[in-house]
Amino acid sequence: MTTFQDLSLPSNLLENLHALGYKSPTPIQEQTIPLLREDKDIIAQAKTGSGKTLAFLLPLILKLDETEHFPQALIIAPTRELCEQIAGEANKLARYKKDVKVTTLYGGTSLTKQVASLEKGADILIGTPGRLLDHFSRETIHLGQIKTLILDEADRMLDMGFADDILKLVSNLPKQRQSILFSATYPENIDKLTKVILSNPQEVKIASKEKEVAIEEFVYAVDEKDKALLTTLKHFQPNLALVFCNTKVKTTEVSDMLNNKGFDVATMNGDLEQYERQEMLLQFANGSLPVLVATDLAARGLDIDGIDLVINYDTPMKTEDYTHRIGRTGRADKSGLAVTLCDEYGLRKLSEIKPELKAEKISTLSPNKNFYMQGEVATLCIDGGKKKKVRAGDILGTLCKDIGIDNKDIGKINVYATHSYVAIKRSVIKKAFNGLKNGKIKGKKLRVWWLG
Ligand code: ADP
Ligand code: MG
Repeated sequence: MTTFQDLSLPSNLLENLHALGYKSPTPIQEQTIPLLREDKDIIAQAKTGSGKTLAFLLPLILKLDETEHFPQALIIAPTRELCEQIAGEANKLARYKKDVKVTTLYGGTSLTKQVASLEKGADILIGTPGRLLDHFSRETIHLGQIKTLILDEADRMLDMGFADDILKLVSNLPKQRQSILFSATYPENIDKLTKVILSNPQEVKIASKEKEVAIEEFVYAVDEKDKALLTTLKHFQPNLALVFCNTKVKTTEVSDMLNNKGFDVATMNGDLEQYERQEMLLQFANGSLPVLVATDLAARGLDIDGIDLVINYDTPMKTEDYTHRIGRTGRADKSGLAVTLCDEYGLRKLSEIKPELKAEKISTLSPNKNFYMQGEVATLCIDGGKKKKVRAGDILGTLCKDIGIDNKDIGKINVYATHSYVAIKRSVIKKAFNGLKNGKIKGKKLRVWWLG
């Protein structure tokens, strides 16, 4: 097996990879990292959850010029959440370098704040096409020194109608640059983008071998979808379930239905404010709301640990959407389950997009009437984060030492620039909430909210 050492990486980077728990490169990393280090343009395709992010970030961070701060790399991705995820990974990976600045630029958040952050200097820009173009036209970003362009989930961006925005951005990049495309799926229409953007690209495709397929897929023919959804959840009894609907309205209806049946549910769709989208995702990922009902907004790229069941409440419209939706489970060599619930129309659709899948009767499932999905934990939001020098350890300290909460009753802690979130067992959350409200973190009084 190839190791990271075999890729002849500098020792401080190797140490950092070790600290981050990455033992050996995945096949896509093994194949693309050497090519990318040689500045080749590439189109890379590998299944969902196979570690594509690290594959494109590692060579990029290796090559960054640390002595100056100007945008050296541009990463374009279809959704805000994916930008955040890539930025998080980039920050972790770049820890071994002195001072790498990663800036995210997407809609739904204040332009002024983004401009202020850009003014401090940015090495890597990660954004959605629309907002990036917006900054470019206002001349708040300068693309003249970009050396590397990366398009993550490029085919999705085409679907979303971003081709023109992307081409406009690219036409303003230096001709001498490296261009890279990564995705799990490539439809034919991608050619028109690749011809213009990449020069003489090498194609790297990691075929998924039969035995590697970690996601088990089921299709059920159903009359009543709501009932079938409950049956599915109560039969498979997942820890974290992601339910996809085709429309925003439907996500709300299905969430309400599940809520009424005693499930703790998060909803994610494009109608929500950006902070709501982030809080929903966070409460799902930390187990406070163990079911997430979402549109295809959540289908691409999101890497949430522990999703063991993906359900298509609505049949997706395209093969690629199907692949990406179910790819939210079975990540990094874990196994997962995917269930598609089809009414008559859904069955017809599915026979077009996944003809190899055969429907079974939902009556073959044996639901446990008494199974519900309720968060053992709930989430508290604290109005202090990195900018106020709050760290996870500080929050933990206050909760354990000052308030007397047991370490085992405290779940995930997420610290962002201006806010932090902590998951706490519901049995003691009132005590934690009151304690934080009246107490101090790092000697500072901070405001606290109880989400959900
Ligand atoms: P993709 O973009 O291919 O869908 P991601 O880049 O999101 O997949 O990676 C999926 C998961 O695998 C992430 O949690 C990531 O941290 C993990 N991962 C990536 N590379 C490795 C590696 N070399 N060893 C172990 N885990 C890895
Ligand atoms: Mg990805």
